[in-house]
Amino acid sequence: MNESEKIDLLSLLPEELEALLLSIGEPKYRARQLFPQMHRGLSPEEMTNIGKATREKLATRAFFFLPTVRRKLVSALDGTVKYLFALRDGHCVESVVMKYKHGNTICISSQVGCRMGCAFCASTIGGKQRDLSPSELIGQIIAAEKDLGARISNVVMMGIGEPLDNYDNVLQFLRLVGHEQGLNIGYRHISLSTCGLCDKIDRLAKESFPITLSISLHASDDETRSAIMPVNKKWNVDRLLASCRSYYEVTGRRISFEYTLIAGKNDSPDAALRLANLLNAKLRSPADAVTFPIHVNLIPVNPVAETGFSASDKQAVERFASILEKKGIRATVRRRLGADINASCGQLRRAEEKKDS
Ligand code: SAH
Repeated sequence: MNESEKIDLLSLLPEELEALLLSIGEPKYRARQLFPQMHRGLSPEEMTNIGKATREKLATRAFFFLPTVRRKLVSALDGTVKYLFALRDGHCVESVVMKYKHGNTICISSQVGCRMGCAFCASTIGGKQRDLSPSELIGQIIAAEKDLGARISNVVMMGIGEPLDNYDNVLQFLRLVGHEQGLNIGYRHISLSTCGLCDKIDRLAKESFPITLSISLHASDDETRSAIMPVNKKWNVDRLLASCRSYYEVTGRRISFEYTLIAGKNDSPDAALRLANLLNAKLRSPADAVTFPIHVNLIPVNPVAETGFSASDKQAVERFASILEKKGIRATVRRRLGADINASCGQLRRAEEKKDS
């Protein structure tokens, strides 16, 4: 069998592994041996409870691959670890592990590059190369756990790429990562960040994954938002907030908003007031004025050479936050972890690709 036609073992659920095993004349109970061990980072060749003949048969039809560490940067300031992982075809993606008191959180990538075109973002500059497979999504977590020798308890899909533009693979990833025989990470410990693909948000609401949704809003009026986020021309602010409201109503899961503050673009007191009024009007009806939890995460924009944007100063950020708070919206300013290793996603991969080309 041609290498490219082989089945990717780490993308399969136990019942799918069973079907594969049966098709090569192996008992299906072997899925219970393979699945948990692969999710701890062992390849079938390393599994002592699986005989050589079985492993060889498996290798004719399928492969096991974990992302390999191409580069690893550790922050001297806060211990944040940034990985540049190489994939089977040589493409690279970034993942970042942040250490908090309540455990380790990993930020994973969902695509090689991105086609959403946000004006401030490094990941989209070269466009999208390809989607990540379910095994490459979960492989970032397994490879990081293996390298660190530590468990990861929280996952945020906020790295390179737009997760909802890779919907089916992200869904299979969610089934894998929450599986009790595998990493068994609870859906409440997983959040997915999207620039606002409304059709997919609506679809996600109907699946039974109670994950936290994080919406990259960045502007509250269509003119400003369309200028920095092309996706707004397809799904505008009103439509996006309608999807948010219904996601909350269907799943009961809170939604948080990301708002990147760009000096002179979206950081004025007027912009803060407009944002607060809009969120209150669209997401809270008088009946649930207090209960609808709205959380805005303010992120001073990370300067990317090609974009020419600069971050709002501290005073503008604090003023913006206090206007939101006065209107009953919880606002936090994103703590910059790993500032010394340029931990925000997209830039390390770009540096690597420039070097290769
Ligand atoms: N495509 C998804 C997830 C990846 S981006 C999304 O759009 O949400 C993760 C977050 O980082 C998004 O909120 C994104 O808008 C933000 N971001 C991208 N580039 C940034 C930069 N240069 N400075 C600050 N935040 C940035």
